[in-house]
Amino acid sequence: MSSDIMKNIDEIEKKISGAALRAGRDRRDILLLAVSKTKPVELIRKAVDCGLTELGENKVQEIMEKYEPMGEKVSWHLIGHLQTNKVKYIIDKVKLIHSVDSVKLAQEINKRAHAAGRVQDVLVEVNAAGEESKFGIRPEETEGFIRELSELKAIRVCGLMTVAPFVENPEDNRPVFRGLKKLLIDINEKKINNINMFHLSMGMSNDYEVAIEEGSTIVRIGTSIFGARDYRV
Ligand SMILES: *Cc1c(COP(=O)(O)O)cnc(C)c1O
Repeated sequence: MSSDIMKNIDEIEKKISGAALRAGRDRRDILLLAVSKTKPVELIRKAVDCGLTELGENKVQEIMEKYEPMGEKVSWHLIGHLQTNKVKYIIDKVKLIHSVDSVKLAQEINKRAHAAGRVQDVLVEVNAAGEESKFGIRPEETEGFIRELSELKAIRVCGLMTVAPFVENPEDNRPVFRGLKKLLIDINEKKINNINMFHLSMGMSNDYEVAIEEGSTIVRIGTSIFGARDYRV
């Protein structure tokens, strides 16, 4: 199993480097975030041993369960929908929250981070493809949303995140990724106080190469590292 994971990561590394090269980008500007949701700590440790120390989870509960056993070597990213009443459980545990999608949530993160004497890095989740079923701010409302967040002193808006549609052909998501990058540039150009975004969290197992070609700085990869997830248990 461990050699499987090592092989998988090798393969992904090659593809990341290839995509970076094609786009004239530096590999070091791209973070491979290992999405460990539903996977046990013994398996996650194997990825960590291969050098993947930044881990993504979509549930607060799973971060809390894995936090102690995984220890200090790793850092955690919350990539899934976050309920306001659960912020208090993870505020001292996460490096980056990818899924800020309401002012109420941002205010709670700000309040808790302030109380903890720190500034919390966050991304704004954008529903870039306008899908009914998805969380996230609509592209045309993102600038106004970020203006509201810019008033909150204990959060730092580092960039934008999107969960692109599931597609057979990853090329189909290219316009989505390109659009998110354009949105980031456009908003940065507005020179909003305290806002200078540099992260684009986009691309998953199915489409991360295209995402990197279009400027992704964080690819969130689960299945291609750890294998398919089993939700029956
Ligand atoms: C599960 C998940 C991923 C990883 O998806 P894979 O297709 O397994 O790589 C990425 N981002 C989010 C928000 C997720 O929930």
